[in-house]
Amino acid sequence: MADAEAGAVTDSGMGSPGALGVEDVSVVVRGRTLVDRVSLHVAPGKVVGLVGPNGAGKSTLLRTVYRALRPASGRVLLDGEDVWRIPPKHLARRLAAVLQETAGDFALTVYDVVAMGRTPHKRAFAGDDADDRDIITGALDELNVVPLMHAPFDRLSGGEKQRVLIARALAQRAGTMVLDEPTNHLDLRHQMDALRLVRRLGVTAVIALHDLNLAASFCDRICVMDDGRLVATGTPQEVVTADLLAEVYRVDADVAPHPRTGIPQVTLLSGIPLQERSEFKG
Ligand code: ADP
Ligand code: MG
Repeated sequence: MADAEAGAVTDSGMGSPGALGVEDVSVVVRGRTLVDRVSLHVAPGKVVGLVGPNGAGKSTLLRTVYRALRPASGRVLLDGEDVWRIPPKHLARRLAAVLQETAGDFALTVYDVVAMGRTPHKRAFAGDDADDRDIITGALDELNVVPLMHAPFDRLSGGEKQRVLIARALAQRAGTMVLDEPTNHLDLRHQMDALRLVRRLGVTAVIALHDLNLAASFCDRICVMDDGRLVATGTPQEVVTADLLAEVYRVDADVAPHPRTGIPQVTLLSGIPLQERSEFKG
């Protein structure tokens, strides 16, 4: 794709949303197949939820999409281009990530961390210009972290760190994002805000989520991984079912469309009646 088109900016200020293709990707680490021939396609501007039990390979797949890992076979395509053939700085203008491991190399303030999102847009050694500062301040504000701007990133709570990393991805202005459990550590309001934000930006997104109710509420499609393989993909209605919860997660649950929204809602069945709990006064 022409660079000018790839760099186009949408109404939300983000780059144009990309078409993301994962084609028959396998990832092998030290002889173990962590991702096993996974294919998925995300149309521009669509939000896909990636769910599945711990160890299913979700983070490994997202790191492969973000080119932090090289697939043993298969390809990751952004607008039809193999991500390994796109120069890193160009890729970073088009693809942003909120990944989980936030290594301790952040002896930086919150502002500095978010400012890192501007790096791919700058010439070597250039400082932040007024536009950069506006974008950084806007991202801090969007994620509700302006008061923490001068705080050392390392000192923040898990939820605050998570919001700062989302702000960094926002400042990057890429049209495609991968997010690995971005709602981890966030309170309910910030969970909703973060996922609403991703939708409002109009970016193409793949989001690993643990909470199936959140995934069903915010995602266009849901992909389920188990043991390195993609075992189901479809709309929330198609995928979030009691059978899936039994087969993939091995839990007993009811799934019913919410009476007002129609969105499938999961209720886990603990098997312990309320009457048997000491604090129950009903
Ligand atoms: P998920 O994000 O779905 O919980 P991961 O992608 O983090 O799953 O991990 C998938 C499997 O790969 C797990 O069994 C994990 O222990 C293993 N794994 C992840 N990273 C590595 C690594 N660098 N070396 C060896 N095994 C790994
Ligand atoms: Mg993970």
